[in-house]
Amino acid sequence: MSQFSVIGAGLVGSLLSVYLGERGHRITVFDRRPDFRTRGAGGGRSINLALSDRGLLALEGAGLKDAVLPLCLPMHGRMIHDLDGTQHFQPYGKSGQYINSVSRGELNLLMMQAADAHPNVAFQFEHSCLEFNLENGDLHMRDEAAGSNYTLRPELIFGTDGAFSALRSSLQRRPRFDYQQDYLPHGYKELTIPPAADGGWLIDPEALHIWPRQSFMLIALPNLDGSFTCTLFAPYDGPEGFDALQTPALAEAYFDRYFADAKALMPTLMQDFFDNPTSALVTVRCYPWAYKNTLLLGDAAHAIVPFYGQGMNAGFEDCRALAQLIDQPGKDWSQIFRAFEQERKPNGDAIAELAKRNFLEMRDKVADPRFLLQKKIAAQVAERHPAHFTPVYSLVTFSDTPYATALAEMDRQQALFDRMFTWPDFESKWQDEYWERIEALLLAREPSARH
Ligand SMILES: Cc1cc2nc3c(=O)[nH]c(=O)nc-3n(C[C@H](O)[C@H](O)[C@H](O)COP(=O)(O)OP(=O)(O)OC[C@H]3O[C@@H](n4cnc5c(N)ncnc54)[C@H](O)[C@@H]3O)c2cc1C
Repeated sequence: MSQFSVIGAGLVGSLLSVYLGERGHRITVFDRRPDFRTRGAGGGRSINLALSDRGLLALEGAGLKDAVLPLCLPMHGRMIHDLDGTQHFQPYGKSGQYINSVSRGELNLLMMQAADAHPNVAFQFEHSCLEFNLENGDLHMRDEAAGSNYTLRPELIFGTDGAFSALRSSLQRRPRFDYQQDYLPHGYKELTIPPAADGGWLIDPEALHIWPRQSFMLIALPNLDGSFTCTLFAPYDGPEGFDALQTPALAEAYFDRYFADAKALMPTLMQDFFDNPTSALVTVRCYPWAYKNTLLLGDAAHAIVPFYGQGMNAGFEDCRALAQLIDQPGKDWSQIFRAFEQERKPNGDAIAELAKRNFLEMRDKVADPRFLLQKKIAAQVAERHPAHFTPVYSLVTFSDTPYATALAEMDRQQALFDRMFTWPDFESKWQDEYWERIEALLLAREPSARH
């Protein structure tokens, strides 16, 4: 039986090991972290993620969807918090469409336990990948607990070791390996809204909450225990950037000015603000993803900024796409790896671009009347012509339409909306005078949605 190594037991590595184990391959999954099968991967803090349709589809393919659903809290739309505390709800899609808030630690734990229960899968914790030898195929590892290094030569190596992948660093030494890494000028910090005294939620648990403030924003996703994990996204520099908020007095004044209603719900705000790290937001593009017997997947291949809530979903979709290629008869591994990177790379690039664009939408445009009108029109056209028009958010979130198709559709729809807004008095007359023209424009072509 073949012996494969998966480097990284994070979200993507754990799911991949289930897919590969199910297909009869013997897998060892290495992770540099201590064993988190029993303690969970969250390190004590509750950090959550938005899981949407393509992630669920990939979990279903591994037989894990039904086990994951009880960990999920449905979020049906965005709850926008204005500066004066007024709240507006913006649905994500049609009634019945929602994204799911799920604990990263609980989800990772569940998937590892599922993999662990498989006779073909074994885990090695506190085993770090140091490097891959491009010439002889040796994988240099370190047993962190024993403090010793050793060498492996697995038949296949899957790099799911995240945005700062050690395997990818080795592959970067290849000639003609494309690599691009860019940081946003913004960072993020996690904060908390605790549960209510009765164990319930202090704000609506069926929404993803956003406090948009143009160049920065606060968001909050609900947890099953009644708490919310909040994330402040803000520039590092400038008078209101992280670097300027160095004292409790300055931080208090900042939250009083911009997030007063949220601050009132965060009794540990100052402690969280100064104890929790400020983390950077990176996009990584690289190619090729396959070299000899190695393949990069998930963040190791395509780390993206988190504003579309798609990084994990894209990584899960990688696992499903790879499994579909493995299941096709007559392909050897090098053909499978090649087909995988050719199919997935354009989609990785597209979701990276969509994620960057969505930052602008979340922190600024959700409060812009013109953008809201555009959303309203798109929703109405979609409702009347569901077979012929789909808003871009729905293509990305509620379908498995390739990300590259969704990005092209975004450009097409935006160009059409830009045209409509040049029509005289469009904002006041769109319903009575322009509706037929709007429909004719938007329905002229439809991307090939598969789902
Ligand atoms: C603030 C924030 C919010 C996000 N929100 C969402 C969201 O709402 N929805 C969504 O879909 N995505 C979201 N993401 C993206 C998501 O977190 C990632 O896309 C996802 O974690 C990628 O999974 P992965 O398994 O590829 O990498 P990781 O989850 O980073 O796992 C990598 C694993 O490899 C291990 N490892 C690393 N180096 C080595 C080494 N040298 N040797 C051995 N092991 C190693 C690590 O310990 C880790 O266990 C968010 C990301 C951020 C930063």
